[in-house]
Parts: sequence; structure tokens; C-alpha cells
Amino acid sequence: MQENLNCCCHDSQAHFLTQAMQHLDLNAAQRKLLLQSFREITVQIPLEVRQGGKKTLHTFTGYRVQHNHARGPFKGGLRFHPEVKLEEIRALAQLMTWKTALVDIPFGGAKGGITIDPAKLTENELETLTRRFTQKLAPVLGEHEDIPAPDVNTNPQIMAWIFDEYSKSHGHTPAVVTGKPVELGGSEGRLEATGFGVAFITGRMCSDLSIPLKQARIAIQGFGNVGSYAALRLSEMGAHIVAISDVFGGVYCKDGVDIWAAMRHVQENGRLQGLKGTKEISNEALLALPCDVLIPAAMEGVINCNNADAIQARLVIEAANMPITHMADDKLRTHGTVIVPDILANAGGVTVSYFEWVQNIQRFPWDKSKVFKRMETYLSRAYEDVRELSRRKRMDLRTSAYELAVQRTLQAVTLRGF
Ligand code: NAD
Repeated sequence: MQENLNCCCHDSQAHFLTQAMQHLDLNAAQRKLLLQSFREITVQIPLEVRQGGKKTLHTFTGYRVQHNHARGPFKGGLRFHPEVKLEEIRALAQLMTWKTALVDIPFGGAKGGITIDPAKLTENELETLTRRFTQKLAPVLGEHEDIPAPDVNTNPQIMAWIFDEYSKSHGHTPAVVTGKPVELGGSEGRLEATGFGVAFITGRMCSDLSIPLKQARIAIQGFGNVGSYAALRLSEMGAHIVAISDVFGGVYCKDGVDIWAAMRHVQENGRLQGLKGTKEISNEALLALPCDVLIPAAMEGVINCNNADAIQARLVIEAANMPITHMADDKLRTHGTVIVPDILANAGGVTVSYFEWVQNIQRFPWDKSKVFKRMETYLSRAYEDVRELSRRKRMDLRTSAYELAVQRTLQAVTLRGF
């Protein structure tokens, strides 16, 4: 069957959900209530951009989709990327509702972004764009309303501008956004949290599958916030990170890439290519490497009908959101590949975002060891819940995770009388 890769991400999300909803025997009205967004906002952001020595006016489009807030304020990242579209943001907002429910933190789900390549802007232009976007969204944001966080191509500095812009009209409100610099109330450990959480879940899963982590060969696609910290933690845990990549391509070393050296190299050169002691490898070849664990940590839909048959890893950990299309998911599982779904694998980030919010509301910061210890407690509990349901009902991990998350959200929706 043909797979349309342009709409794979929201199609696949709908497919996975439908499966879980069938298991839960939900009626049509319940399905609609859980699937529809609460609110979808599209804004225009005019900005003068310097090109070839002269300034030109551009109008960029920004989005915020608030999916469900039955369990708490809307929560989810903001991405700045040329391929940002409303359908994609809608699917990612929904995913956040299931993720926060699965790790059982008191938030709902949202997502937002701007269709732009931030690499083409100066620092000043990026700041102006972020501040204007914040002004447009301000009426629907708030520490008890909707709390953004970093995602693809956004970082602590961008979160600091959002905090500052929002606070101009609402008073000092650090809890309106998470993933801020530590100096402004960001949580210790938030920067590393998603990647470290991915490493923690990988360790648990490897132990369950009797894959010795110390000898495991791991390939990671994407070397940004999530991929780099997952690689760092896993190499500290003794695994061999045989290949890593970014948007420009990948590097390979059969004995394991030196991750500290790779991080320094990216800081100095803006890309992995040219890293000493490694061979170049394409992103496509990285996905198909013979290895124990494959970790897609870049963009959605990278494992699809076209390349699923080439995947050799026994275990795939979804560090990115929605990296596997539903058709590829079927193929991989038929081949016996175990897949740990995104809403479990990368939930360390939103869990520590929750801790940051708690610390901001209480004006009482925690140290890093407490942050990571508590993150592991939350991830461990979610992991065990999913594994227990999957064993009891003989279902794959994704359907089990969705079933738990949908059930918890439905309970909240019903109790509140939505
Ligand atoms: P990032 O912008 O820090 O890094 C993205 C990385 O992917 C970069 O190395 C980039 O070069 C690479 N990349 C981009 N397009 C690629 C492509 N087509 N092929 C190969 N590599 C490509 O982003 P991030 O914050 O690390 O997010 C990565 C993924 O993790 C996204 O799916 C995001 O939604 C998800 N996620 C992020 C967080 C978080 O806390 N940042 C939390 C949960 C999930």
C-alpha cells in the first residue's frame, strides 16, 4: 500500500489512537471529545528581515493548538521550523495530552510553533519574532492556563524572551514557560532531562530484553538537545554509540563515537561532519545499521514504508515525537522489532518541565540530584504501568501506553463533566 509521507504524522497518530480506543470500547461521542482540539490559534507575525543589505517585510505564521486540559493546564513545546503546519502541530498537541497523562503529571496537552528557518535570522530578528509571537498568544497563556517549553530549534534563551515579554503585562511570572535558563528560574537538569530520560528508559528496556547495555551497539539520529544528551548518558552507562547524525549527515565509528568530542565539535563547527576518528555516513545508512538499539531523535516520519524493511535494530526507542509511521510500525513489529513509543521514551522532558513549574510556583529551587531522582521515579512508574498492561493484554507497548493515557484523560473529562 502507498504511504503519503506528507501527512504521515497526523495520519499515524490517528491510527494508533483508533486502535487504543477500540480496545477501550469508546462510543462516538467520547471519541470526538477526546480527539478534537479545545482551541486552535493561528497568528500572523510581521517582521522586517535583513536580506542582501536591505530590509524586507515578511509575514510569518505562528500556531498554538490547545488540545485538552481536563487534567491540568495545557502544556507543550514551541518549534521554529520551515515545515511547521497546523495539522502537524495539532497531532503533536494531542500527543502531549497522552504523554502528560501517561507519566501522570497534572497537565493537559498543547503545541505551537512558527513556520520559519531560524538559522536565516539574526539574533535580534529572532528575539523580535519571539516577543511578537508571545504578545499575540498572551491572552491564552498563563501559569494556570497554558505553559510552553522548548522543542525543535527553540532553546532556553527563547524561553527567557517569552517569560520576559509575558511578565511585562502580567507581573513576574516565571511559571508561564519552562525550559528557561537556570539563572531565571529554569530547573537544574531540564536541559539534559529529555535525553537522560531516553537513556533511562533504554536501560530499563535493554535489561528486560536481556540486551547487555555495556556491550550494546546504539545508533542515534539527531544530535540536538535530545539526541546529544541521550548519547552522552548512554555512553556513560557503557554503551557503544556507533553512529550519530544531524541534518547535514552522520558520523560512524565501530568502537563508539567520543560523545564529549562530538558535542565540542558541533559547538565549534555547527555540524558533526569532520569529527576526528569517524567515517561519514548518511542519515539513511545510519537507520539501516546493524545494531542493537536505534534511537530516532530528530523529526517525525523518518522511519516509513520506504525504509522500514531495512531496519536491523532489535529495539527502537522513539526519542523524537512520531518518528515511525503506522505502516512502518506494523512492518517492524511483524519482523519482531520492539518499539518503545514516544509518549513514554521522551517523557523525561515534560516531567522535569513539571518540576520546574512546581519550583517556580513555590519559589523554591531543587538541586539536580533531586530532579533526576524524581524524574526516574515518574518514568519508572509509567514504564512499569505500560509493561504490565502490555503483558496482561498481550498488546504492543504503544497500544498499551495509549490505552492507559486515553483512559486517564477520559476519567478526568467525565469526572469534570466536560
Ligand atoms: P533540536 O532542534 O535541538 O535538534 C534536532 C536535531 O535533529 C539536530 O541535530 C538537527 O540537525 C537534526 N535534524 C533535523 N532534521 C533532520 C533530518 N531530517 N534528519 C536527520 N537529522 C535531522 O531538537 P530537539 O529538542 O532535540 O528535538 C528532537 C525531537 O525530540 C523532536 O521530535 C522533538 O519534538 C522531540 N522532543 C523534544 C523534547 C525537548 O525537551 N527538547 C522533548 C520531547 C520530545
